[in-house]
Amino acid sequence: MATKTTAKKLAAAKSSKKKEDTAKKNAWLKYSDRELKQAEALCEEYKDFISVCKTERECVKEIVRQAEAAGYKNLDKLKKVKAGDKVYSVNKGKAIALFVVGTRPLEEGMKILGAHIDSPRIDIKQNPLYEDTEFAMLETHYYGGIKKYQWVTIPLAIHGVVCKKDGTTVDIVIGEDPKDPVVGISDLLIHLSQDQMKKDASKVIEGEDLNVTVGSRPLKDEDKEAVKANILKLLKDKYKIEEDDFMSAELEVVPAGPARDYGLDRSMVMGYGQDDRICAFTSAKALFNTKAIDRTGVCILVDKEEIGSVGATGMHSLFFENMVAELMEKMGDYSELKVRRALANSHMLSSDVGAAYDPNYPSVMEKKNCAYMGKGMGFNKFTGSRGKSGSNDANPEFIAKLRAALEKHKVSYQFSELGKVDQGGGGTIAYIMAKYNMEVIDSGVALHNMHAPWEISSKIDIYETEKGYEAFLKEL
Ligand code: MN
Ligand code: MN
Repeated sequence: MATKTTAKKLAAAKSSKKKEDTAKKNAWLKYSDRELKQAEALCEEYKDFISVCKTERECVKEIVRQAEAAGYKNLDKLKKVKAGDKVYSVNKGKAIALFVVGTRPLEEGMKILGAHIDSPRIDIKQNPLYEDTEFAMLETHYYGGIKKYQWVTIPLAIHGVVCKKDGTTVDIVIGEDPKDPVVGISDLLIHLSQDQMKKDASKVIEGEDLNVTVGSRPLKDEDKEAVKANILKLLKDKYKIEEDDFMSAELEVVPAGPARDYGLDRSMVMGYGQDDRICAFTSAKALFNTKAIDRTGVCILVDKEEIGSVGATGMHSLFFENMVAELMEKMGDYSELKVRRALANSHMLSSDVGAAYDPNYPSVMEKKNCAYMGKGMGFNKFTGSRGKSGSNDANPEFIAKLRAALEKHKVSYQFSELGKVDQGGGGTIAYIMAKYNMEVIDSGVALHNMHAPWEISSKIDIYETEKGYEAFLKEL
């Protein structure tokens, strides 16, 4: 089939092999002690971030705090914006767009980093509280794709908001302070599990059985549902909320406790919600580290990715497009056509987590095209399932530019697919932005345990990915 390899071809192959080696080498080995300290410092900040930010709202609040500390101003409150300004806009407390306004007209396009800040979890229903055999329980409806059996018998915390009829909002975080109580979902003892153990994994714990235990102590002098009454009294005393207020609440049950170093060598991070706060944190960080820029730099962090990017705060919302229009208007250069051109001329890294090769589960991976922990920033030309269905298939011309930028800045990167063909699949926000006709590619950090209560990432991949975002903002 192929012709004999000439000497020239051999030499070319040799030199390209050398390049490939640098791209695929374990990233831990390339750094000096000083740089490793920087990586460690970044990961400490990251651990703090995911330990505190366990809902989309908590992420937005913290990113706003960091943005304001870095000199960003609220776009909604500004009349005029000019090149060099740093601005942000929040969408209903659950999504945010941040801009470093470039020296070139917006019409020439933006450099966009996008990630999502919602994570799989267990949401509390609107009429949740009930008593059964002197237990107070909360009804739930899980959010996103979870293996339900992973969420029982672990300490859980409640995060969220209760919005009251008087217009006030009560912020709730229960279960994070070591002195706080935690809640949880029970599982059957092995001794009585003969029938349960024969069920499919998807049925071992069923959706309607994810009821959260919140109490077992009756209120004195109360004869009807005294345990429930006691919980209601506690809620009223501490938060001034009534039972009906659950109707206008968003309460999310999440794994309790902080992120931790993982591995005896502390090379990894174990934490909740790394999908996709790992990309959100590093994307925002890269934008904060960008002081001056030619084409406007953007970081958009959105909600609802795990349930289809729907709703006013998901990527399908017109929020981002509207904010681009607002920005142009405030720069004195708005037209409908210019907004369209700005979007079409943009480049985007749509960032989300991927699956890292796991030695415990080799059968789902094709080893030449899967991501490995420690090998740096991950790229997926496409995602989707069953023949790339539902994916954004990035253009090779754009990928080539990206590779040049990453190599110029010595970023370790890898190209991969989620797993074997026809083994399953997944989607991201990439295709939604690509409809504006901009160049988009999926990128991010590869994890173990994706969507489990405790997800695992490699510290060096976090560092490489942040550097990769900076390289993109500098060069594309
Ligand atoms: Mn996910
Ligand atoms: Mn994700």
